[in-house]
Amino acid sequence: MGKVKKKKNWYEYLWIATILYLTLGLFNILFAWLGLLCFFIPLIMSFTKKDKAYCNKYCGRGQLLELVGTKFSRNKPMPKFLKTKWFRYGFLIFFLTMFVNMLYVTYLVFNETTGLKEVITLMWTFKVPWRFNELTNVTPWIAQFAFGFYSMMLTSTILGFITMALYKPRSWCVYCPMGTMTQGVCIIKDKIK
Ligand code: SF4
Repeated sequence: MGKVKKKKNWYEYLWIATILYLTLGLFNILFAWLGLLCFFIPLIMSFTKKDKAYCNKYCGRGQLLELVGTKFSRNKPMPKFLKTKWFRYGFLIFFLTMFVNMLYVTYLVFNETTGLKEVITLMWTFKVPWRFNELTNVTPWIAQFAFGFYSMMLTSTILGFITMALYKPRSWCVYCPMGTMTQGVCIIKDKIK
């Protein structure tokens, strides 16, 4: 008898949402705002659900890395230092610092200290001019936040794909700031219990 194929759940297709998000951002930077969902949903779930429910089931990025990694990963073990608490929490702190800096830049545009910069900053260093859509009718700080947030999302995606190719498909999940943060919440919750 042939194997019965298990019907997939809707959430197993969330990797499509990740591709859609990254693609839409290319055409209209304002779609970057949708990325806030990937920020708040895991946090809310870490407070309300058991374990790392978001990572285990609903993270489109994790699924995408898994999927692409089946073909394009060397499947080698990661260097040990990437798995240490020091690195994971250090990277989280670095990421959050960059996030706060991005909010500060948005604030400077909001109070008109500086003007809107239509650039995407990759790996927190490389500035790529980004003029794919007309932003004259958009409130500058709204567009500035979108540029900043999309820069972070693209940077983390690039890092995810690099570590996917070099090591195991979901190597990014080992030091993903969102994963470290939600795991931290779960640990604190357990301790309080
Ligand atoms: S660790 Fe990060 S990328 Fe991996 S599943 Fe969790 S939130 Fe998604």
